[in-house]
Amino acid sequence: MLTSIAGKSVIVTGGSKGIGKGIAMVFAKQGAKVMIAARGEEAAKAAVAEIEAAGGTAAYHLTDVADWDSVQEMVAATADAFGGVDILCANAGIFPQVKLVDMSPDDWDTVMSTNLKSSFLCVKACIPYFEKAGKGRVVLTSSITGPVTGFPGWAHYGASKSGQLGFLKTAAMELSRYGTTINAVMPGNIYTEGLQDLGEEYLKTMAASIPLKRLGAVEDIGNAALFFASDEAGYITGQQIVVDGGQILPESLEAIEEI
Ligand code: NAP
Repeated sequence: MLTSIAGKSVIVTGGSKGIGKGIAMVFAKQGAKVMIAARGEEAAKAAVAEIEAAGGTAAYHLTDVADWDSVQEMVAATADAFGGVDILCANAGIFPQVKLVDMSPDDWDTVMSTNLKSSFLCVKACIPYFEKAGKGRVVLTSSITGPVTGFPGWAHYGASKSGQLGFLKTAAMELSRYGTTINAVMPGNIYTEGLQDLGEEYLKTMAASIPLKRLGAVEDIGNAALFFASDEAGYITGQQIVVDGGQILPESLEAIEEI
């Protein structure tokens, strides 16, 4: 049992849907106060209502994580509402699929800004609060796609997710001065609204290629984030963990069929 989350102020970017909503719910169930940062109001409101219905504390702030002013406003609003910022879960991300031959420079920039620059902006905006408290936690949502695997259509996405891990290592060194750790969770295929958009066939094929024979649940990622955010993980920084049901392990189709 982890003992250190109750009453903490937690930002979850992209907390209105999918993995972010799962992370938000896991933290809220542990007694944390959760700020959901996303662009769409309807889903953000619904996520807050869901958390409150489960007995948790949550609020939302409409935010574009790719925009510096917007991120700064969101972090300040969180500190005002919850009396500081203890934990940042930088999770918001997009994964539009487009092959290189059709990919425009704008497609590339949009994915990089939303998935990678956002990690930098959110961490930077939280530093004054971590410095004031002399402690803090950051958990990035990266991916297996990019750092470990490839998938046609996701060159920009994979680069952004690898970029987060590059950012992580130097950020860990710099944040240590504020008693703050930063680590990353690398999800495999997690069942979310975003993934559902890729279609039934994709979901079926993916589940069949995973040794544990199921897509991940959003709580699987929330629980890993919760551990990194706990006091008990206080000596772990600059690290990453794959949470994928064993998806990256098989060497070949035969290896999966042997199970
Ligand atoms: P999702 O269901 O599509 O949810 C994405 C969330 O991010 C939404 O809350 C969305 O809200 C928010 N968001 C997107 N762009 C934003 C922006 N510019 N500013 C603020 N919020 C923004 O996606 P998901 O599957 O949960 O993915 C979440 C994270 O997990 C991403 O970083 C993704 O790369 C990573 N991941 C997912 C999987 C998977 O299998 N699902 C696997 C590996 C990694 P608004 O659109 O309203 O802003």
